[in-house]
Amino acid sequence: MPETIFSKIIRRELPADVVYEDDELMAFRDINPQAPVHVLVVPRADIATVNDILPGQAELIGKMVLAAQQIAADEGIADDGYRLVINCNRHGCQEVFHLHLHLIGGKQLRGISR
Ligand code: 5GP
Repeated sequence: MPETIFSKIIRRELPADVVYEDDELMAFRDINPQAPVHVLVVPRADIATVNDILPGQAELIGKMVLAAQQIAADEGIADDGYRLVINCNRHGCQEVFHLHLHLIGGKQLRGISR
């Protein structure tokens, strides 16, 4: 997988506002937030897109969702709600080719089809 800006953040070669990390994941605030809370949950493993997730990584993907759940609680947005999004490739408007889960909330979001 080609080097991305997120690999450099994971290796602490570039700064980021980190809100959570463990052996497998790092979560940091999006540099261009779309809502009051906009956090990216990123696996340390080199996975470029959803298309590249292997069956053996199912638990890792579940941990990404559970980390987002915990961060939402920590940010105080769990009860009001939030959105979890993973963009994939061109039609999904993926810009950074290191898998990441967007946690977006802190305001009323528009319906996905509106
Ligand atoms: P994508 O479109 O790939 O799903 O989302 C990439 C996200 O990464 C965008 O929301 C963009 O604002 C964010 N982003 C791009 N470069 C950086 C960076 O250097 N630092 C941080 N924290 N976020 C970034």
